[in-house]
Amino acid sequence: MAHSEEDVNWVYDRTLQRGRCFYCCKQLSFANYGIVGSKGTWEIDHFIPLAAGGEDTRYNWVPACVNCNTEKADLLPWEFMPQRFTRGDLNPNHYIFDCDPSPLMRWIAGLFG
Ligand SMILES: [Zn+2]
Repeated sequence: MAHSEEDVNWVYDRTLQRGRCFYCCKQLSFANYGIVGSKGTWEIDHFIPLAAGGEDTRYNWVPACVNCNTEKADLLPWEFMPQRFTRGDLNPNHYIFDCDPSPLMRWIAGLFG
């Protein structure tokens, strides 16, 4: 499905360290959005899959490298990464800090937990 440029920008910046895959934290290339086979290519993933009742809105969109998006497919986040995502938690904002290795940001993330 097509997303506006504004939406693509917004999703790319969603993780605390801008332009990281929401799942594996790999650095993405903004310019290679949707260009499969290019370096750092990425897609907009539905955190809660549409097939599982997720919404097609910004709230539910996260940046994902093609590998993660393909592997996750129609799995719920807690099925895809049970160690990381809390079962039944529909809010990706609870996890945007996860790719930041600094203790300070991990501490701040705890406040949002
Ligand atoms: Zn990834």
